[in-house]
Amino acid sequence: MDNSTILKSSSITSGDNVSFWIDTTPIISFNKPNQDIQTEVLIIGGGIAGLTTAYKLLKAGKKVILVEDGFIGSGETGRTTAHLTCALDDRYYFLEDTFGEETIKLAAQSHAAAIDEIEKIGINLNINCSFKRVNGYLFLHPTDKEENLDKEFHATQKAGLRTTLLKGIPALANCEKRRCVAFSNQAQFHVLDYLKGLADAIILLGGTIYTEAHATAITKKGAKVNGYTFSADHIVVATNTPINDTLTMHTKQHAYRTYVIAGKIPKGKLPYSLWWDTGDQESKWFSQPYHYVRLENYDDKYDLLIAGGEDHKTGQADEENILESERYERLEAWTRNYFPMLDDISYRWSGQVMEPLDSLGSMGKNPGDDNIYIITGDSGNGMTHTTIGAMIICDSIMGIKNKGKICIVLQE
Ligand SMILES: Cc1cc2nc3c(=O)[nH]c(=O)nc-3n(C[C@H](O)[C@H](O)[C@H](O)COP(=O)(O)OP(=O)(O)OC[C@H]3O[C@@H](n4cnc5c(N)ncnc54)[C@H](O)[C@@H]3O)c2cc1C
Repeated sequence: MDNSTILKSSSITSGDNVSFWIDTTPIISFNKPNQDIQTEVLIIGGGIAGLTTAYKLLKAGKKVILVEDGFIGSGETGRTTAHLTCALDDRYYFLEDTFGEETIKLAAQSHAAAIDEIEKIGINLNINCSFKRVNGYLFLHPTDKEENLDKEFHATQKAGLRTTLLKGIPALANCEKRRCVAFSNQAQFHVLDYLKGLADAIILLGGTIYTEAHATAITKKGAKVNGYTFSADHIVVATNTPINDTLTMHTKQHAYRTYVIAGKIPKGKLPYSLWWDTGDQESKWFSQPYHYVRLENYDDKYDLLIAGGEDHKTGQADEENILESERYERLEAWTRNYFPMLDDISYRWSGQVMEPLDSLGSMGKNPGDDNIYIITGDSGNGMTHTTIGAMIICDSIMGIKNKGKICIVLQE
């Protein structure tokens, strides 16, 4: 990457604490804008949504410019836990009740297709991002009912997923008698290594990336970026929550803050897998907080166990009288109960997820616009959701009819 440099700065991530991914990846930065620009596609946002869309459109032959306010991955993508899964965090039986069987099949196929797409991109670009196929295990939160696990298993089968109902939750302490739904062929990766590979490919394909480039005044003609006029035929707003609209999409989703801890465990003690509980059914929050756990390679001797959860609606932690520091403590206690081999905690960070009211995200044309596109409402499935968004938007801009409405395609 010719024009990227390694920087250290306090604005490398949208939070006070640094995630494992940010800590282990050199900052990915590019030039700042210095003139007016004309392009075919302007992409705003340098997270997984923006970079995947940029890469796919460049491959399809479009002229693309991407602008990022901070550095590449400095938004929520740098603060994720990067499970790649079709185990959606709002249950399939709930989605079936709301949308019907055809939609859950489409949702399952779409998230599986997104995992395949990430794997394919990684292979084609030779990105060393520790992509691994793993199993995922969904087990009951103590407040949830046994029958709901059966319901979820049957719904995932109807959705066409390769799932099994297991007795015993693999690798969790004292869980031999508890059941789980096992999802095969899920995946995980090092998300910032993946973004670095995508950014390299964007430059090689003739695209331009600007960092420390703040977009404002977005219209169907383009945007102002650090005061310069960036004109484009198509504008993709990949800013996690849309910044081009102050009303429509903001009434359709809520921001939740979610917390993560990570600590070493001796290598080989646990299999590389994904684990999730079904969430606190007694929670006061509409999106019931659940726990999510995975491993990542740390060094020759250790893996890193990464566990998340203890969410609350952003800005409303006070309503539960649980301080941020207590959230980390509760998460650690929960994690040690199931993974007693966990060493000292090496990382703590938090981030924000956008929870859509109807449980399925939004991607495609912005309501009322013909050439402005958005990807938002990712929930805790944003790695796959944004990849699906990139696929749909690329098809839409290229005039290719997409096979189906995967989440809510706002307009076709
Ligand atoms: C703790 C945590 C754990 C998670 N775990 C998982 C998981 O295991 N699996 C999963 O699938 N998903 C997970 N998610 C969700 C997933 O990480 C996000 O949905 C996804 O990273 C969103 O990517 P994005 O590209 O849409 O947004 P972002 O990564 O936030 O990128 C948007 C970018 O837009 C930039 N931007 C904003 N405004 C402007 C502007 N005006 N001008 C220019 N640039 C601008 C921002 O700086 C930012 O970098 C998790 C999220 C969190 C917080």
